Amino acid sequence: MRTKIITAALLFLVVAFPAVGQAPSTQAAPTQPPPERPSAAQIQAAKSLAGTDWGKGLPAFSFALSKVPVTQYDGGTARQAGTYNFPVSKNIAGVYMTLEAGALRELHWHADAAEWAYVIEGRSRITLTSPWGQVQVADVDAGGIWYFPKGWGHSIEGLGPTGTKFILVFNNGEFTEQSTFSITDWIANTPMSMLTEYLGWSQEQIERLPKKQVYISRVNGAVPSLADSLPRNRDTPPLAMSHTYKLRGEKPESVLNGSSIRVVSAKEFPASFNMTGALMRLEPGAMRGLHWHPNADEWQFIVSGSMELSVFASAGKSSISRLETGDVGYVPRGYGHALKNPSKDQPAEILIVFNAGDYESIELNDWMSTVPADTLANNLQVPETVIRQLPINSRKFVVP
Ligand code: MN
Ligand code: MN
Repeated sequence: MRTKIITAALLFLVVAFPAVGQAPSTQAAPTQPPPERPSAAQIQAAKSLAGTDWGKGLPAFSFALSKVPVTQYDGGTARQAGTYNFPVSKNIAGVYMTLEAGALRELHWHADAAEWAYVIEGRSRITLTSPWGQVQVADVDAGGIWYFPKGWGHSIEGLGPTGTKFILVFNNGEFTEQSTFSITDWIANTPMSMLTEYLGWSQEQIERLPKKQVYISRVNGAVPSLADSLPRNRDTPPLAMSHTYKLRGEKPESVLNGSSIRVVSAKEFPASFNMTGALMRLEPGAMRGLHWHPNADEWQFIVSGSMELSVFASAGKSSISRLETGDVGYVPRGYGHALKNPSKDQPAEILIVFNAGDYESIELNDWMSTVPADTLANNLQVPETVIRQLPINSRKFVVP
């Protein structure tokens, strides 16, 4: 009797509430295929790329992005990491992208994430349009960064002679490049009558436009110089502040025996009000000491060299993983961590991005030197004389 009631109730639930995501039957069929989501096989393959981790029942804090096959476009490539292949990265996703000279990542916006980017090689031309009709058109060289606020319209073009390689970092772990809002996709999905009325073009002219999302387009011939690449409406005002910045030109905050950290927060780069970036160089064997960030998650990309990432997750849980060039790491807000260059002869260059505009860290060194020696002696159960032998390393980030 009870089984029958439960079965009937379940049947009712299934009929009354169809699976989440199932389109209501009254909705018109979309003219475009739905965005590509990773298949079960792709997700399984991605899981096998999780970094070499020795965690105790913890999720992997690293992901071998360098081993993800690139998605090839006419004029560029992309590979991405987010919660779909790197589950721990709940609040930050990343995309490694290349564009040939003259290839344009088309006009688009992101509904659910701001875009922070670092140019690894070559030169990129960006355009960024604000909700108040202002624009910035700028060329960003290797070592430079840009910040596009959530929802603002933008484009990225590879410039000659070599094109460009860059890392895009989004403050939403579920972000995927397949869910961007692109101008060609939109036009292809708008009724013809509205387009002819709105754009003032004939139906024949509109029928010559792309029928689906272009994503990357390319021009035959040279891209004009920045001085000749002006807003079509010459009355367009410039953005109130620059949305590009030279990260590699920033004076290092800390330099020790060749290792250095450059931090660019909202203080140095006000446009990037809710994201901070850092470029760290670790000499062979050098370590970014034990610390945590009270206010932000940390996303890492190995620009060159390799890195060991140690993460402390409380309650006796910890993990250590090894990252190679092109791999990504993630440390959730508040988790203790340290980074080390394990190489004996190669320096490591590491890009670090935080999802907060203020840079906040508490270094274990500082913590231990701010409390009274007797407190620490009691805590660590050693004589106070031993505590007094500990060096005081105020704000010393890197251990040579
Ligand atoms: Mn974008
Ligand atoms: Mn950190």
